[in-house]
Amino acid sequence: MDLTVAADRAGLVKAKDALGPGRIALVPTMGALHEGHRSLVRLAREHADHVIVSVFVNPLQFGPGEDFSRYPRTFDADLRACEEEGVRVVFAPSAEDMYLPDRQVEVSAGGMGGVVEGAFRPGHFDGVLTVVLKLFNLVQPDVAVFGQKDAQQLALIRRMVADLDVPVSIVGAPTVREADGLALSSRNRYLSEADRRTALALSRALRAGAARAGTTGPAGILDAARAVLEEAARFDPPLLLDYLILADPATFAPVGDDHRGEAILAVAAKVGTTRLIDNMVLTL
Ligand code: AMP
Repeated sequence: MDLTVAADRAGLVKAKDALGPGRIALVPTMGALHEGHRSLVRLAREHADHVIVSVFVNPLQFGPGEDFSRYPRTFDADLRACEEEGVRVVFAPSAEDMYLPDRQVEVSAGGMGGVVEGAFRPGHFDGVLTVVLKLFNLVQPDVAVFGQKDAQQLALIRRMVADLDVPVSIVGAPTVREADGLALSSRNRYLSEADRRTALALSRALRAGAARAGTTGPAGILDAARAVLEEAARFDPPLLLDYLILADPATFAPVGDDHRGEAILAVAAKVGTTRLIDNMVLTL
C-alpha cells in the first residue's frame, strides 16, 4: 500500500478519502524519526485501521535561543521509515500552511504548563497544545499516540482533551531506550561521544531513584538520583542540571512525603549545547 504525502488541508482531505473506511490513528512528530517514533506507529496500528504521521517542526513551541533553526530535518529518511512501518499518509505542512499571518488565538496550558519543564521553557506547552489541537482538527483522528518520554506533554494533552471536550482518545507509549539506557531522542544526534557518556547519567540517576522506590519515600528516592547527577556534574563535559523532581503524574506538582501510588521521577539537564529530558514512572 502506498504512502501519500499531504502538505496542506486540501491534500489531507484527498489522502484521507483514499484511505476508505476505518479508524484513524494520528502520531504527531517533529520528524528526525527514530525507533521511539516507530514504536508509536506500531502501537497506533493496534488501535486503528490507518495510521497518519504528521511531521512538523512547530515554531510556536520553541523559545528564543532554543534550537528551532538547527533542529534536525531528515524528511527523506522519515518518509522511508514511515513506509517501512506501513504508514498510509504523512502530513507535512509548512509553517505558512499551519499558521495564518494574522492569527490571534492560542491554547493556554494553564498552571500545569508553567511548572517543571514549563518553568524552564515559558510558552512551550501553549505552543505544543496549540499545534496538537490544530492537528486534531485537521486530521480528525479517532486516536492519537504520544510518548511517555515527554511525560508532562502527555499529561497536558490528556488535560486538554478532557477540559475542552476534544473527541480523540489519547494513548501513551513507553519510552524506547538504547541498550545503555539513553532515551532515544532526535536531539541525541547533537551529542559528541564525550557528551553522550555524560548524558548517560540521566537514565542512571532515574534507575538509582527507581531502585529505592520500594524501600524509601520521596526524599530517599530523590537523594539517590541526585547523587548520580552530582557526580556527573564533575564529568568533562559536565552535566548541568535544570531540575530533578518526583511529580504527581496528573498535576506535575512535587509529591508530598506521604504520597502513595504512581509518581514521575523527571530530570532535565544540559550536556554541552544539548538539553535532554528523561523520566520514569515509579510506584510508591
Ligand atoms: P518529537 O518528534 O520529539 O516531537 O516526538 C514525537 C513523539 O514521539 C512524542 O509523542 C514523543 O513523546 C515521542 N517520543 C520521543 N522520543 C521517544 C522515545 N524514546 N520513546 C517513545 N516515544 C518517544
